[in-house]
Amino acid sequence: MIGLDLARSLVQAGYRVRLVSGEMTFWPHQVAEEQRGMFCDGLRNMGIEVIKGDGAGGVRAIEVGATGLPARRLVFHDGSDLYGDLVMSFMGLVPATEFMISSGLDIERGVLVSTALQTSNAHIYAAGDVCQIWSPEEHCYRFYYGYHNVKSMGIVAAHNMMGANEQFVSTRGESLRLDQQGHIDSPFWECD
Ligand SMILES: Cc1cc2nc3c(=O)[nH]c(=O)nc-3n(C[C@H](O)[C@H](O)[C@H](O)COP(=O)(O)OP(=O)(O)OC[C@H]3O[C@@H](n4cnc5c(N)ncnc54)[C@H](O)[C@@H]3O)c2cc1C
Repeated sequence: MIGLDLARSLVQAGYRVRLVSGEMTFWPHQVAEEQRGMFCDGLRNMGIEVIKGDGAGGVRAIEVGATGLPARRLVFHDGSDLYGDLVMSFMGLVPATEFMISSGLDIERGVLVSTALQTSNAHIYAAGDVCQIWSPEEHCYRFYYGYHNVKSMGIVAAHNMMGANEQFVSTRGESLRLDQQGHIDSPFWECD
């Protein structure tokens, strides 16, 4: 959603934006395949040109453009291409956990914590993007994105370090939606 936020800002500033869509276009929202078209139309309503990357077999390479043409060339697996002045790729987030590798904490993609935000070492709690929190509903450790969640994790972890027994519960809606103008809108775009 960070890339889409930037795309809408660039359109508002008068730039032409072409977006190559794919399975992860709306990440971290989980959008079912049958709903993707509707949300891509939402992007078009916002002035973003959407090109189906899957249809062209996905992106194969980003190359230097040719003389007299824009600076960058995007090449798809089916041999088709697109030229643009700038290509930006958005690939999600991975927390930097390397420095904790020898700490003895259980780490997967992030530091694994209980719903009380306690790590596998009972004396260590964690909060923030670095946490993969146990979800009893989904029976897996998962990330909870966005600064509202992160702020709430900080409070829960601090209270629990002081002896409380609070559980982190995401209070944020996680659904992508269309607003009255038919534009996409995300709870990750909300700020205080
Ligand atoms: C470009 C961008 C746009 C975003 N936009 C939104 C948005 O619109 N809405 C929203 O809700 N969320 C947004 N987010 C997500 C939000 O910023 C994060 O959820 C939030 O900042 C996470 O807070 P944090 O304290 O867990 O981690 P961070 O803010 O990443 O802080 C971690 C800190 O730890 C430091 N650090 C890392 N390794 C070490 C080390 N070994 N030693 C010491 N210090 C270390 C880092 O330098 C950093 O300062 C955005 C994120 C990005 C990257």
